[in-house]
Amino acid sequence: MNGSLPVLRSFFLFISKARWARQIIMSWGVSRRVARRFVVGETLDEAVQAIRDLNAAGLNATFDHLGESVTNEAEAVRATDAYLAILARILETGIRSNASLKLSQLGLNLSYDLCLNNVRRVVQKAAEGGLFIRIDMEDTPTVDRTIELWRTLRKEGLVNVGLVFQACLYRTERDVSAVLAEGCRIRLCKGAYKEPASLAYPKKSDVDASYDRLVRMMIDAARAGGAECASADGRRPPITGVATHDDKRVAAARAYAEQVGFPKQALEFQMLYGIRPELQRQLAAAGYPVRVYVAYGTEWYPFFMRRLAERPANVWFFVSNFFRR
Ligand SMILES: Cc1cc2nc3c(=O)[nH]c(=O)nc-3n(C[C@H](O)[C@H](O)[C@H](O)COP(=O)(O)OP(=O)(O)OC[C@H]3O[C@@H](n4cnc5c(N)ncnc54)[C@H](O)[C@@H]3O)c2cc1C
Repeated sequence: MNGSLPVLRSFFLFISKARWARQIIMSWGVSRRVARRFVVGETLDEAVQAIRDLNAAGLNATFDHLGESVTNEAEAVRATDAYLAILARILETGIRSNASLKLSQLGLNLSYDLCLNNVRRVVQKAAEGGLFIRIDMEDTPTVDRTIELWRTLRKEGLVNVGLVFQACLYRTERDVSAVLAEGCRIRLCKGAYKEPASLAYPKKSDVDASYDRLVRMMIDAARAGGAECASADGRRPPITGVATHDDKRVAAARAYAEQVGFPKQALEFQMLYGIRPELQRQLAAAGYPVRVYVAYGTEWYPFFMRRLAERPANVWFFVSNFFRR
């Protein structure tokens, strides 16, 4: 969010949800080509290969089978089956990965119960194989239901599931404080959705300050609970997941962790595939667990638009490719 111009950001976040724009932009070959910078491919095989390469470079991964806001039950069930296939492939191949999913892809906007049943199938299957599932956080109308669904699974004994929180929202400090007390493994990000000023900090400096505060809260809570480290097989993350490509946020997290003697293996950095790969490798070489978010599938349009929204340079790259085609 920091590197983007507010008007450009709003524009791309708006068209990320517009069906007409999706139809036009997906029909251009150049879109698919440029999206490939952030999306490893359209098939599970391509994602597995990308993760093997990351693993060989000392990086762990999390799969994202692209898709969101499904409009019927059959699509939600297909997405659930895709996640079950991912889990089977992780176990078959022994790759160092877990999986991240979006509730709107598993039916949240159709019915809470349908979504809960779908997610439960995935998390149960993951638990049987000793795997971990991360529930991505979407826009503000979904936040309460996302936390509620996570709590329901925890009550059922499914503890191999964690949440994402967005530093841009005013409510996040309260939410993070509550779920940390319940043992939640957290991925903290800045927030990729368009939110009104009544709910989210409009200024980037406030989002950054919130980010650093939240990281300190997460580290303090993890220390109080014994500072559990990432699992040796690279699948279960620690409590503290710092998902950013921002050098200053990374430096602030490292500085606080060092100051309080927090173990490196309890502080996981997470980044998106194709973004700051040299920083990913530097952090891994420095002894931190690093997890790369590997998105694949045919439904790459909204994910791609959010990446354009984050950074004007990506838009210029896209436009220059468009005129070169
Ligand atoms: C692993 C992971 C999972 C995420 N999950 C969620 C989620 O569940 N919900 C959610 O709302 N958001 C999620 N996000 C997105 C996040 O909210 C931000 O939109 C995104 O990470 C950009 O913010 P930043 O922290 O990198 O900081 P920024 O200040 O935006 O960027 C810092 C620097 O990183 C680089 N950079 C950042 N974005 C890009 C880009 N698109 N292209 C090229 N360079 C870039 C640039 O060098 C930039 O100067 C996730 C991000 C990561 C890394």
